[in-house]
Parts: sequence; structure tokens; C-alpha cells
Amino acid sequence: MLDVLVIGGGNAALCAALMAREAGAEVLVLESAPREWRGGNSMHTRNLRCMHDAPQDVLVDAYPEEEFWQDLLKVTGGRTNEELARIAIRASATCRGWMRRHGVRFQPSLSGTLHVARTNAFFMGGGKALVNAYYRSAEALGVRIRYDATVDRLELEDGHFRAAWLGDERIEARACVVASGGFESNREWLREAWGQNEAGEWPAENFLIRGTRFNRGVLLRDLLDQGADRIGDPTQFHSVAIDARAPLYDGGICTRIDCVSLGIVVNRQALRFYDEGEDFWPKRYAIWGRLVAQQPGQIGYSIIDAKPIGRFMPPVFKGERADTLGELARRVGLDEAAFVRTVTEYNAACRVGHFDHEVLDDCHTEGLSPPKTHWARPLDTPPYYAYALRPGITFTYLGVRVDAQAAVHFGGQPSDNLFAAGEVMAGNILGQGYTAGVGMSIGTAFGRIAGAQAAAAAVRQPAPAIA
Ligand SMILES: Cc1cc2nc3c(=O)[nH]c(=O)nc-3n(C[C@H](O)[C@H](O)[C@H](O)COP(=O)(O)OP(=O)(O)OC[C@H]3O[C@@H](n4cnc5c(N)ncnc54)[C@H](O)[C@@H]3O)c2cc1C
Repeated sequence: MLDVLVIGGGNAALCAALMAREAGAEVLVLESAPREWRGGNSMHTRNLRCMHDAPQDVLVDAYPEEEFWQDLLKVTGGRTNEELARIAIRASATCRGWMRRHGVRFQPSLSGTLHVARTNAFFMGGGKALVNAYYRSAEALGVRIRYDATVDRLELEDGHFRAAWLGDERIEARACVVASGGFESNREWLREAWGQNEAGEWPAENFLIRGTRFNRGVLLRDLLDQGADRIGDPTQFHSVAIDARAPLYDGGICTRIDCVSLGIVVNRQALRFYDEGEDFWPKRYAIWGRLVAQQPGQIGYSIIDAKPIGRFMPPVFKGERADTLGELARRVGLDEAAFVRTVTEYNAACRVGHFDHEVLDDCHTEGLSPPKTHWARPLDTPPYYAYALRPGITFTYLGVRVDAQAAVHFGGQPSDNLFAAGEVMAGNILGQGYTAGVGMSIGTAFGRIAGAQAAAAAVRQPAPAIA
């Protein structure tokens, strides 16, 4: 019988497969996608968040455990499991050596609005190069990989894994790691979770999915139906405001609009609705998808003038451009008078001090609701630009409850041979909110733990220590 079955083909699955194989287990990976689309959301990533007490290779200064933890505590509003969070944080300090051994390369961060040179290690060639490196290494070590292999359901007995089913095919294994992502690509499930708003709209119908189309939550639902302990809320997710012209799936990183904190954002009624300068963009970008989802028609418009050009990563599609505010409003279909009034009121409220996008500067508004607390400068220098925004869903947080060994819990009891890693359990740490790069920190830490534990369960040996 097979030792370890790994379900999924992204970062968490590959980390698990590599660890299980290194521990001597025979491993099979089942990836839903065809080979050319392998790698799940992980292929779209760029970096992982790493704690470090002193400068390390591509990371500057220090980012100690406590600061990482406080950042996580703040963005999640306390909806996090401290024990599991600290496991992911500590593992992020040491995992890069292991990643390098499997072919992953790092590079210093690129400049832009993300302020992450201190906290995040960037993958050379991005997530696509990372997953390709892992697949190469896994194949070289003898891990078997099957593509176009969607698992429909698991056969469980009192929380003990027996087999996985793909249509009529039954695959038995001594242990299993589920790393099949969240349910973000399942638009029916998103529609059901978000329901109808007061205006009678179904907000999820206007959501775009930033990553893979294969994370349909099939196994998440199956596990929950079979009594796995549930964690998180189906309406909580990582969601970014992206270019409204992005494709429904796999638009990836280049559809993100990164000039929000440098201008203002208005809704369909040409009204501002949130403080665009509340905090550094990497700490705030992931709330904007939800904010736009809560607006009428689930649409927003990011507006800048000429001053910020060159200060943010340019979007892949050109924005609407006009020499006057009135013309800009007409181009994007906003009520001209309302739009000009909003900008005029904002401009009058700006108290410009010393503009510095690298710090929480003193440029703010006074007497305006909502305020803009940093980087507030009047929109007064043509040409003006507008980017229509839609909620771009990155990944969902509803998941299965796990423990420090990544074992899936059933009625409060850990399974002895079923483990989960990555998005399918990230909700244990991310009850809400996000801080850039932590998805890969969680997936790498728990993927490695799950793989080591699954190998140990399969060969009935204690799990090796993770270096
Ligand atoms: C555009 C974008 C950019 C991102 N950038 C970053 C970043 O820079 N840093 C960061 O930390 N995070 C980032 N994230 C989030 C990050 O992608 C996730 O946190 C992480 O990749 C999750 O890894 P995973 O292995 O759990 O899921 P995935 O990589 O999505 O892998 C899930 C896998 O499961 C497979 N699968 C699904 N269902 C089944 C089934 N029934 N049977 C078999 N296989 C199945 C899928 O095909 C896929 O291969 C980004 C996400 C997106 C979409």
C-alpha cells in the first residue's frame, strides 16, 4: 500500500510531499490541474514573510518574532490561534535553507509601494519558478505525480483516513495530506456564503478570482460533511481591489491596483467610503476587496493625479486619463457634479506637511469623513487617472481545525493519519485580515509539518525534527 497520499499541487502540497519523501515514505501527489496549470495559487505568489533577528541574505534589518506576531494579531483582530501562528512565524526564520536545497532562489525585494524589503523574502522568478523547482526536486527524489487528478471524496472511518476516490478509482494510503486550497474558485459557494445584500444584489456575482480555477473546495466540503471540525467564517477571505477588467480566473498579481494610498477611492455614487491612507499598503491592501464588495454594484474607482506616477507598481492595463476632473468622471461613467464635489471637498480638507510615502507621514485631512490620515495631497495636477476596481478574491479562510502536528480534528480529537496544510487550514491562523506574505509562511510551515507527520504515521516512526 502507498505510504503517503498528498492531495493538491501547490506550495503546501509540494512541501508536504518533499518532506514525506525525505523521511523515506513512498509518496503520490494528486493535482487537479493539468500539468501546464499546475501549482494552484502558489504559482502566482512572489514572496513569503520571514522573521529574523538580524539582516539575512535578501532581508534587511530585523523582523523579530514578537513584531511578526503583533502584526498578525492586529490584522486578525485577535481571531488567530497563537500556538499555531507562532509555529508558522518561527518556521519562517529557518525554512529558506531547506527551500534552497529544493531549488528555490531568492532575490532582494523590488521597490514600489509594498515596503517589504525588511519583512518578505522574494522568490526569484516568482511563485511559478518556486513550484517548478519543487516539482523538479520531487520528481528527482522519486515522488510520483498525477495531473488532471481531482479527488472527489475521502473514505474515512472515525477520522482515520482509508482511501481517496477519483470517480470510480479508489486509492488507498497509510496516511494522507490534504492541501487542496480553499473554495475561492467555487462561485456558487461564494454566492451562497455572501447571500443577497439590502439592495437585492448578489455581491459574489461581481467577484473576480485572482488565482487558480481549481480550488473549488471539493475536499473542504467533504471533510466538513464528514465531521471534521470547522474553523473560520465562509465570508472571510483575502481579497484585493483589482482592475475591473481582469479575467475571471488567474489574472494574478499584475491586475492589482497599487495606487490607492496615493489618491482617493470613490464608489458608483462618486463618494469616498474609507481612509485610503490608514496604514502602509502591505498592511491594508487586503481589506480593499471587501470594502469594494460592500459598495453598490461592487465597484470602486481609484483616482490619482500626475504626482504619484512612478511611485507605485504600474498596473498592466492603462487607466482612464483626462486633463480635467469633469472629463475623467464622464470617461468612467460617474456623475460629474458629484465627483467634482467629492474631489473639491477632499482637496480643501488636505493638510499637507512633509510628504513621504516610506513613512506614516503628516499629510492628512481635517474635518473630512472618512478622513485620509496619511499621504493626503490635493488632486490638482493633471492629467488625472481612474482605475475601476472589483473585489479580487485571493483565498478563503473557512477551513478544517488542525493542531501543531497539522492533524485534522474530528469532534475535538486529532486524526492519527489525516493532515492538512495551506489554505485548507490557514483559517486557524487567519480568522480575518492579512499581512503580505503570510500565506506562504503558513503553507510552507504546515506543509512541511504535515509531510513529516504523515510519513511518521505511515511508517509508524516518530516524526523527524524539522530543521
Ligand atoms: C495572485 C495571487 C498572489 C499571491 N501572492 C502571494 C504572495 O506573494 N505571498 C503569499 O504568502 N501568498 C500569496 N498568495 C496566497 C498564496 O497563493 C496562498 O496562501 C498559498 O499559495 C496557498 O498554498 P496552497 O498550497 O494551500 O494552495 P494552492 O497553491 O492554491 O494549491 C492548491 C492545489 O490543490 C489543487 N486541488 C484543489 N482541489 C483539488 C482536488 N479536489 N483534488 C486534487 N487537487 C486539488 C489545486 O489544483 C492546487 O494545485 C497569493 C495568491 C494569489 C491568488
